[in-house]
Amino acid sequence: MTPDYRVVIIGAGVVGLAVARALAEIKIESVLIIESEPNFGRGISGRSSEVIHSGIYYPENSFKSKFCIRGRNLLYDYCENNTIDHQRIGKIIIASESQENALKDLYQLGISKGMDDLRLLTAKEIKDLEPFIKGVQGLLVPSTGIVDSHQLMSQFHQRSVNSNHDYLFKSRVRHCESVPGGYRLMIQSPSEDLESVTSAWVINAAGLNSDHISNLIISKKLTPEILFSKGNYFSLSNQWKNRFSHLVYPLPDVKHGSLGIHLSFDQTGSVKLGPDAHFLESNVEDYSIDESLLSTFYEAASAYIVGLEKNDLSPDFTGIRPNLRSKSPGFDDFYISHEKDKGFPGWINLIGIESPGLTAAIAIGEEVAGWVSEV
Ligand SMILES: Cc1cc2nc3c(=O)[nH]c(=O)nc-3n(C[C@H](O)[C@H](O)[C@H](O)COP(=O)(O)OP(=O)(O)OC[C@H]3O[C@@H](n4cnc5c(N)ncnc54)[C@H](O)[C@@H]3O)c2cc1C
Repeated sequence: MTPDYRVVIIGAGVVGLAVARALAEIKIESVLIIESEPNFGRGISGRSSEVIHSGIYYPENSFKSKFCIRGRNLLYDYCENNTIDHQRIGKIIIASESQENALKDLYQLGISKGMDDLRLLTAKEIKDLEPFIKGVQGLLVPSTGIVDSHQLMSQFHQRSVNSNHDYLFKSRVRHCESVPGGYRLMIQSPSEDLESVTSAWVINAAGLNSDHISNLIISKKLTPEILFSKGNYFSLSNQWKNRFSHLVYPLPDVKHGSLGIHLSFDQTGSVKLGPDAHFLESNVEDYSIDESLLSTFYEAASAYIVGLEKNDLSPDFTGIRPNLRSKSPGFDDFYISHEKDKGFPGWINLIGIESPGLTAAIAIGEEVAGWVSEV
């Protein structure tokens, strides 16, 4: 059987779009992207901190470390070559007195991964760099930055469309079966009709739904499970706009599986705090913000922001991470796998692509495109 498409990508978030863009770069044109929302970038990718992460936190040899560090370099080059708003501003990780050893361990981890631009800072050096920030010791990570993720996704989408890729919006993949030479997907269209399409390759980039999409063809026993972890953001009032020149992070909150309530800002200098991390029971996609967390955010941020008042904070927005973790502290990697060894040649699962997925997207896209072009 000759399939309708060489590649079908399920999900037009930053990861699916980065895969499409990488396929376009190697001149693979027979590509269909299926997205349940009316446009691209409406899932996890529309609700991130838009930080270009350095990759310092992740264990050596993990996918997160590999794809984040490679993806970060590719992303800076891509932004420069495609005039996408971004700034390589660096970040400062702040330690209190009792955390100095943990900060030094993080510094050593970064050095061991070849990050030779890291610098430990004294309290005075922190103050010189950021007059409104206090800390006993700091770690300067110059390779961290910010990016306009919406411009980035538009650019990926445009590159893909220019290569004659097809897009089906408002269309949800419902069923899947193996057929000779590939897979048949059943797609529910806006008119509720079921259409079928065949493809030699299926790239599962369905974000929060990626474990369910995998389960359409691969048993639950062989697919990692996602748990939703919600992150709340609070914004700071306009008087804090443009007061900072670096992003500022506490040490990671290992207990809750987050980077800690940190300070970031967008291209206009507007400052936000967060995200924190709370597991959502039953994986309900609930984006309401928990306003009662304002005091917790205020206390966490007051530990490192000088002169912060409680009424400087207002509820902003939330995002949901597709965590692979088993509700216990520890490190969970991305799940990136061509499932041929499980008996599903041509099926690629991208599951649990939480932070730093935006940073890693170009590198993930290129890896996937490499697998597709090998055959
Ligand atoms: C709060 C928060 C902050 C973050 N901050 C950062 C950051 O600062 N830096 C960073 O590098 N990373 C960050 N991340 C991580 C990053 O945002 C994600 O890794 C990335 O956006 C994931 O993209 P995706 O394409 O895999 O998922 P998505 O953007 O969710 O795309 C998946 C798409 O699949 C579609 N879909 C699902 N099911 C179906 C179906 N059955 N049929 C058709 N379509 C379907 C969905 O509608 C969705 O559009 C953050 C994440 C969160 C939650």
